[in-house]
Amino acid sequence: MTAPRIVVAGFARTLQGRERAGTDASYARALARAGALPLILAPVTDPAWAADLLPLADGLLLTGGHDLDPARYGAHPSPALETVDPARDALDLALFGTAWDRRLPVLAVCRGLQVVNVALGGTLWQDLPSERPGPVVHNQGEPRANRSHPITIAPGSRLRQIAGAEEVRVNSFHHQAVRDIAPGLRVTATAEDGVIEGLESDDLGRWLVAVQWHPEEFHASPDSADQRLFEALVEAARAAAAEPA
Ligand code: MN
Repeated sequence: MTAPRIVVAGFARTLQGRERAGTDASYARALARAGALPLILAPVTDPAWAADLLPLADGLLLTGGHDLDPARYGAHPSPALETVDPARDALDLALFGTAWDRRLPVLAVCRGLQVVNVALGGTLWQDLPSERPGPVVHNQGEPRANRSHPITIAPGSRLRQIAGAEEVRVNSFHHQAVRDIAPGLRVTATAEDGVIEGLESDDLGRWLVAVQWHPEEFHASPDSADQRLFEALVEAARAAAAEPA
């Protein structure tokens, strides 16, 4: 069959004085290396139109980015809230809502994990250092492919199966994190300070894997558990595509 088609939820953002629409190439490269065709969508049209495309694809990748608007989970903005992007919130939530309704495989990264939690009724810490200080630095000053803190992965989770280990080291570029977990989700990974680093659907019939770190930064590593996350999404997308609708 042809390569599974994975929609990648992208951004529209001004960089060096020009507005660009796209995504970090590392997400697209990780998918391409895993044998998929990445279809990058940017928040420049009616999000409903983008969501209409999703049923023509085989899976969804939600990517990292700016803070979600706390109004999406009924909270007032904290003084430490950073940039929000309402158009991107609308696109990500529309894409995830469609994927959830149609039971399409979803891999959610960083902000993507937070989008999933908020979409299903959970809340976020708006700023870990001021609202939930702890010993683990979650916004590393190191290069993106450096692994700055360990996480512990729950037995019986898809993540554990994919990672093949109880403890792995991950990179970390987030000042927000999951606060109240949405109904229907289970925690699959935590950092040493208890910050949530992984979520999945508690219905194993749904393929939903969400991680707070950035596995795409390891797409060029010869054999990384991080790249296996993308391979697992592509496998699930292939299996979903083969099922009669
Ligand atoms: Mn972290």
